[in-house]
Amino acid sequence: MSKMYYEQDARWELLQGKTVAIIGYGSQGHAHALNLRDSGVKVIVGLHEGSKSAGKAREEGLTVTDVAQAVAQADITMVLIPDEKQAKVYAESIAPNLKPGSALAFAHGFNIHFNQIVPPANVDVFMVAPKGPGHLVRRVFTEGGGVPCLMAVYQDFNGNTQDLALAYAKGIGGARAGVLVTTFKDETESDLFGEQAVLCGGVTELIKAGFDTLVEAGYEPELAYFECLHEMKLIVDLMYEGGMAAMRYSISDTAEYGDYVTGRRIITDETRNEMKKILAEIQDGSFARNWILENQANRPMFNAKRRQEAAHKIEIVGKELRSMMSWLQKK
Ligand code: NAD
Ligand code: MG
Ligand code: MG
Ligand code: MG
Ligand code: MG
Ligand code: MG
Repeated sequence: MSKMYYEQDARWELLQGKTVAIIGYGSQGHAHALNLRDSGVKVIVGLHEGSKSAGKAREEGLTVTDVAQAVAQADITMVLIPDEKQAKVYAESIAPNLKPGSALAFAHGFNIHFNQIVPPANVDVFMVAPKGPGHLVRRVFTEGGGVPCLMAVYQDFNGNTQDLALAYAKGIGGARAGVLVTTFKDETESDLFGEQAVLCGGVTELIKAGFDTLVEAGYEPELAYFECLHEMKLIVDLMYEGGMAAMRYSISDTAEYGDYVTGRRIITDETRNEMKKILAEIQDGSFARNWILENQANRPMFNAKRRQEAAHKIEIVGKELRSMMSWLQKK
């Protein structure tokens, strides 16, 4: 087992009197900015000219400036704009204003690990990556909890960068849940693999394959939606709370028997071999290169796929069914 760090391990004094620039105010940006502010840290939000998020940040009482000014004042610059935009903003507005001896921070290792951002030698470079979506990083914090974080040091100029990262993780609430030390390489590769093979790509294709199979066999789409998509959350919640055993305790023995005899026919040796290939393409940089080129080409494939996916029957049926679930509308 790896060593986990918690609040009592943090040297909070490393953040005292420091100014943190949060660049970007989206999913992670709003959560880091508000949690740090509520923890007593001085925060400036750096946004581009005409940003729609600026109003939201000001409404929360946060100071908002352009990126260059925020970086120029910062002891820690946390980069929370979309990964594919970071290299350009870094070159134009961050690099020319980074104070020598300050820290440059990230919530994901992509740009550092794949050399899209090459920081100067005279700054600390660390990562604090919450293992959850930004909106939960904020919500769980306000409820007194925290989302677990990974932390990593890429460059240690001042000699205390890991302690600085841990103090930062405490400021956003992550040290309440546990902070695990990793490297930029491992975080980047495992994050990309997890979202592609399991969490996003794997789950959505599994759900659609099940839905399509039922609908093509003549079952009602509404029934297929409940069975394959809606119930997914209920099952995953049980695993989240108590592992697979707790989920299997809660389901019927018939469901548990079906789980054992059928799961391996869905995730076959072929699927496991494909997962290894996917991991290799992440490790050797092919995935990163394709995604960078896709962005340079104005995302032809990404946008076409987004349109196609939105038109899938499961999305049409789901929208209708969810409109009747009043508790979902409040979000
Ligand atoms: P996002 O898309 O939600 O936020 C984008 C923000 O960046 C917006 O506020 C936008 O106004 C701002 N922005 C866009 N272009 C800008 C520019 N040119 N200059 C300044 N600001 C600009 O981003 P996100 O999903 O929060 O991702 C931020 C980072 O956090 C990424 O590195 C991502 O990998 C990482 N991360 C995200 C999540 C998540 O929950 N979404 C989880 C873990 C790590
Ligand atoms: Mg998104
Ligand atoms: Mg992730
Ligand atoms: Mg990711
Ligand atoms: Mg069932
Ligand atoms: Mg059972």
